[in-house]
Amino acid sequence: MLMTEVDRLDLPTWRKAQELEQHLGDPRVAANPLSCHTTVNFDEGDEFPQKSVDALSDVGFFNYLVPEKFAGAMASPTELMALTRVVSRRDLTTAIAIGQTFLGALPVWLGGSDEQTALQSSHVRSAHLGCLALTEKGHGSDVMSSEVVAEPHADGLCVSGEKWLINNGTRGTTLSLLVRSKPGTGMDTLSLLLIDKETLSDGATKPVEKIPTHGIRGADISGIRFVDCVVPESVVMGGVGGGFELMVKTLQISRIMATGFSLGASDSAIRLALDFAIDRQIYGASVVDIPAARFSLIGCLLDQFMAESVALITTRAITLQPSRLTLWSAITKYYVPVTSEKIVRDSGVVLGARHYIREDHWSGLFQKLMRDNAVVSLFDGSTAVNLGLIAGQLNMLVAARTKSHGHLEPEQRDELLALATLDQADTGFPRADDLELSNNGHDEILDSLGWLAEKIAAEPGDEDEDLRQLLLEEIALLLLERDKLDAAVRDLNLAKDFKPTSEARFELAKRYCQLFAAASAILIWVANRDTINGMFSSGEWLELMLARINSELSEVGVSHWMQNKVVIERLWQQFLGLYHDEKMFSIVPFALAKGVR
Ligand SMILES: Cc1cc2nc3c(=O)[nH]c(=O)nc-3n(C[C@H](O)[C@H](O)[C@H](O)COP(=O)(O)OP(=O)(O)OC[C@H]3O[C@@H](n4cnc5c(N)ncnc54)[C@H](O)[C@@H]3O)c2cc1C
Repeated sequence: MLMTEVDRLDLPTWRKAQELEQHLGDPRVAANPLSCHTTVNFDEGDEFPQKSVDALSDVGFFNYLVPEKFAGAMASPTELMALTRVVSRRDLTTAIAIGQTFLGALPVWLGGSDEQTALQSSHVRSAHLGCLALTEKGHGSDVMSSEVVAEPHADGLCVSGEKWLINNGTRGTTLSLLVRSKPGTGMDTLSLLLIDKETLSDGATKPVEKIPTHGIRGADISGIRFVDCVVPESVVMGGVGGGFELMVKTLQISRIMATGFSLGASDSAIRLALDFAIDRQIYGASVVDIPAARFSLIGCLLDQFMAESVALITTRAITLQPSRLTLWSAITKYYVPVTSEKIVRDSGVVLGARHYIREDHWSGLFQKLMRDNAVVSLFDGSTAVNLGLIAGQLNMLVAARTKSHGHLEPEQRDELLALATLDQADTGFPRADDLELSNNGHDEILDSLGWLAEKIAAEPGDEDEDLRQLLLEEIALLLLERDKLDAAVRDLNLAKDFKPTSEARFELAKRYCQLFAAASAILIWVANRDTINGMFSSGEWLELMLARINSELSEVGVSHWMQNKVVIERLWQQFLGLYHDEKMFSIVPFALAKGVR
């Protein structure tokens, strides 16, 4: 029998997501909320999916955007991430509109006063949309050049200027708004304000018209113009001049949480492609019998598990190791959306003509999710911005590892296991003081490779002996690649190439992320193989995933991962098991909804 159930483990963190999944019903049934038919129709009309937002509001979804300590229902960020994936696999427009409300509330959860958290909590729990308004047309990612100003006024502050390309910019009731609160260019010249539009005088703001977009076409992507808008000084969050730091810390969390959109979208991409490929008969056989198509689909599943490993660990780090998020959030925001885009591309190749058609297969959902998914790597710091953040930390990371030789102290190992063990609680939500502005060279996840190999060698689990040996061989190759990466960074320093945006450093940052993803997947497996059984614990996915990374990074050759036909066939059968049993393509493969709700 194919074992795909999580039958030895009931993970409380995923309970709400499973309930929501069952409540929403099969997305192929047009009458169900957030069905493919509904979401594609909203998209065709460039129409905001209010009906879908209302359907989620009716089941209390907005309460999960508010941490429990602020009178909400979110027990942990991981719980919200799981819920987001359930929505995102159906409709990214809706997921991102609601996700932006969480993003807008984040500075308040991190740095707001008691009054501000109470106000924001009340708005969000009432399903009032919100937004984070950083971007200006003239400056894009260069937020230090912001021109929206808040000047001293007899009644507090007078705000003027325009924010542009803002999700929920018009529909949002509240905004976390980045302003220049004193002239100059230093970090202390920026402040973050919590603006409640309901309290502003008439004419103090003007909406910027909806901006037509390639994907999430129904979303309210617009902006807001402030015209001598007077607000009390009590709207400032985290102190006057503290806006830059609060924004940076906000983005450390939002960059991780945004990857729930990507993981939901790529689950659907794989499902739509596999669904088609199994049924489609050409040349007298099924598309899945064409080796290249089958390998593409297996590659998609491996990519999904790898991206998920990163997201699962770093989401738990929001509460368990918040001081590490400067690096880990940038890696997550670079790696997961880019990998998800690759999954969507590769699934699209298998789907062929149907990936391009706006009807028919799953009501034409694929072309919508493909366009929608591409936005995730743009906002909250684009792919380039995040690679720059990683590249900028390479020197410190390599210097620290050169000194420690990747050795971890026993308490660091315990912390890593707690971070990755999915049935251990990660409840709570951090405040701004728990987060840092630099990792100071610390990355215990990538450092853990050597220790993980020792642990796998010393503590056999459900995997068979041959597979365990293969895993150890792949980890040995990864350790060599990590050494090569460290040496390459030192060489750049010798060549006086210090610029974080240099081409060479960007390439090394990408490699760093691949190695980090591999370490995350191994860590997740080691920490959970005794509790999550079946496909997860037997480990074929991990062996093939590591072999595939080594095919890309090392000199073993591109076909290295395709050699072990026995392991590939076992994984293929497990993959089909997940599909036929209608389970999420996930390390936590819970049951998807069937039929009419
Ligand atoms: C649909 C959508 C919704 C959005 N919603 C919001 C929102 O709600 N709130 C909000 O504040 N903003 C939002 N944005 C704005 C988004 O965050 C911007 O796209 C972002 O600020 C980048 O601006 P830009 O594309 O003008 O690029 P620019 O900053 O002008 O950069 C241009 C190019 O320069 C390169 N580059 C820039 N910085 C770096 C770097 N550090 N290292 C290396 N290369 C670099 C990149 O190739 C980049 O594409 C949204 C954008 C979109 C498309």
